[in-house]
Amino acid sequence: MTRIYAFVNQKGGVGKTTTAINLGSYLATNNQQVLLVDLDAQGNATACLGVERKNINAGTYNLLINPSTRLHANTMRSEKLGISLIPSSPALAGAEVELVNEPDRANRLKQALSQASRYDYVLIDCPPSLGLLTLNGLVAAQAVVVPVQCEYLALEGLGQLLETINRIQVAFNFDLQIRGVLMTMYDSRLKLSQQVVDEVRLHFPDKVFQVVIPRNVRLAEAPSHGQPISKYAPDSAGANAYAALATEILSGDTPHNIILS
Ligand code: ATP
Ligand code: MG
Repeated sequence: MTRIYAFVNQKGGVGKTTTAINLGSYLATNNQQVLLVDLDAQGNATACLGVERKNINAGTYNLLINPSTRLHANTMRSEKLGISLIPSSPALAGAEVELVNEPDRANRLKQALSQASRYDYVLIDCPPSLGLLTLNGLVAAQAVVVPVQCEYLALEGLGQLLETINRIQVAFNFDLQIRGVLMTMYDSRLKLSQQVVDEVRLHFPDKVFQVVIPRNVRLAEAPSHGQPISKYAPDSAGANAYAALATEILSGDTPHNIILS
């Protein structure tokens, strides 16, 4: 079965894109068919995989605006990385406005992903807002991964995110679950980092992934080389952490235990 996870936090710069890309590449290493959906007009996921954005005339924008288009026609495949990508083009910035009068505007991505059954994992990289694009991600997803940076005020905004998830469960997607909260950019030299992890675990018992992603300069460097960490620095602490996250997710997603949350 296809598992569709949205990477969501309306706070910017917490590691949504870094997680979607690097988790995706390690899931692929584990023989999973992975489709990454760049649902952010910033196009960071697309750029991080080395795709030149100005040359894109298909992708997420086309899928949302033009419901008759085929998923396959908007998908790029990287044989080198073993993953597929629905890229974001600059036009995506206008999609929220263009869709505003469409009655099915929240369901466009879900409809498009009904053609994604050949994939084991569809990972949706959402923008840092709770607008229509993220709404499409949440309506299409089975579960949400929430990256949270290990810093002061980490929990700020999470209440609002949970409220949004509740509203979406009621209005659109009864089965939407929280797959897990992922602590990112952990700095072992800072007492604060551990305090934040403890606090988040207290607020979300059983929801926080065991794996904690360290702050690691290799993770920040990899995008400028157009590579996931599994190619750029496979022996780094960041690579080990994302490889372990893939293992944790795969072991939770057993056929008998469809979505652990
Ligand atoms: P946005 O909300 O803008 O989409 P985001 O939540 O997707 O941001 P990222 O783009 O993944 O966050 O990360 C923000 C910045 O932090 C990037 O420059 C990224 O390379 C860097 N970064 C992410 N995770 C780590 C990490 N564990 N260690 C060091 N740098 C990191
Ligand atoms: Mg991002």
